[in-house]
Amino acid sequence: MGMDIAIRFLGGFREQGRSCIAIEYRGKVYVLDAGIKKVYARYYGEPPYLDMIDVDRIECVVVSHLHEDHLVMVPYLVRKGFSGAIYMSKPTYELGRKNLVKWAKIFEEDGRKLYSMEDVDRTWKLVKTVGIGNEICEGDACFRFYRAGHAVGALSIEIEIGGRRILYLADVDRGSRVVKDLDVPTNKSYDLVVINASYGASTLDRYAQEKLFIDTICRYLDNGFSILVPLTAVGRGQETLSILWSYREILGDATLFVHRSIMEGFETLSKYPEFVKEEIAELKKSIESWSNVHSFSDAEEIVDDVRRGGKIVLAPDLMLMTGASRKIFETLKDWDRLLVILTGYQAPGTIGRSLLELGKHGVARIGQELVSIRCRVAEVPLKMHFDLSENVALVKQLNVWGEPRIVLHHGEEPKTLELAHYLSKLITPERIWIPNVPSTYYL
Ligand SMILES: [Zn+2]
Ligand SMILES: [Zn+2]
Repeated sequence: MGMDIAIRFLGGFREQGRSCIAIEYRGKVYVLDAGIKKVYARYYGEPPYLDMIDVDRIECVVVSHLHEDHLVMVPYLVRKGFSGAIYMSKPTYELGRKNLVKWAKIFEEDGRKLYSMEDVDRTWKLVKTVGIGNEICEGDACFRFYRAGHAVGALSIEIEIGGRRILYLADVDRGSRVVKDLDVPTNKSYDLVVINASYGASTLDRYAQEKLFIDTICRYLDNGFSILVPLTAVGRGQETLSILWSYREILGDATLFVHRSIMEGFETLSKYPEFVKEEIAELKKSIESWSNVHSFSDAEEIVDDVRRGGKIVLAPDLMLMTGASRKIFETLKDWDRLLVILTGYQAPGTIGRSLLELGKHGVARIGQELVSIRCRVAEVPLKMHFDLSENVALVKQLNVWGEPRIVLHHGEEPKTLELAHYLSKLITPERIWIPNVPSTYYL
């Protein structure tokens, strides 16, 4: 047996956001992801416990995908002196930089100066892009990359180190209408597998959820409502349009206002056939020829129309914090014929989360203010991650080949504990790790 490998869980465990794992072996450190958690306390955004890493000993950094909860704190390591290689997929490299620019501005404005634009530039110079199936070795570790199926460019990462084999699934999914399914091999023996606990003990039937989404829209449209669906511009935007397109006959002549960034997202996605389904090109054409669809750039262009009822608005961002979705919400929150449908994760402290927590009528907390709202809110989760049934199937499969420890990642604490409870029927509790943040385990 080799030496012990120290695995430091620095963010994204018993919580959703700021994913970060540091693997330490023979004096060197390998960092998997360094994201941010959206919290709206004194500061906007909470980083992982990166100061627990001795930056001089970092051999390399590997990033699973471009989402803020996985990527955004990488420049902090560079600011602290890291100058080695940063591995990520090409889409993450090409599309992820704008997330860093956004946060450099936030850190400048809030006075924390966690990193600057110069750090972003220096970070991007250290990037080496990798593709699916590639293998790279740094120090004592070799990394292999698989398609994660969750977003364009999303990777799952296999690490061979000190005679052990670790699989960091990060964010994984299958069955998307836009991105190709994950292709992670489950016929290998692993020592440690980090799985995604986003949905806890819930199983989401994709098609039942889609149907519920459409039914909800139609019910409210029939009653003179307009619908606001906050989304991400690349990913959920196209996924949701695809759903609406396939139910176009049911939707009848309802007008769809689609934010320009979502239409542009089609262009972006079609550049990455390694990750994105071929059907996306066809879908783009269909959407463009669909006479119900009108694209818009600014909320002001459409709010008067929306107030007349019968409109469906697709706009970023997902949690109603910035962009067109927030503007439309702010303008129409007192109107009792607006329905906001939330389909994705809403971080604590976001406007989206406050809408979920405060029920159908009443008062929402927006920043430090309490604001009364009269619009309606519905939650219809549209799947982006592995759910319970997929996690159970995965663990069963892995059990055939070995007895890996299973680490639960990327779920708020109640969700994580729910999933742990289910898994404890499949494997012994000692094999289920539910680390606190920060904590160190040894393998
Ligand atoms: Zn993600
Ligand atoms: Zn994530």
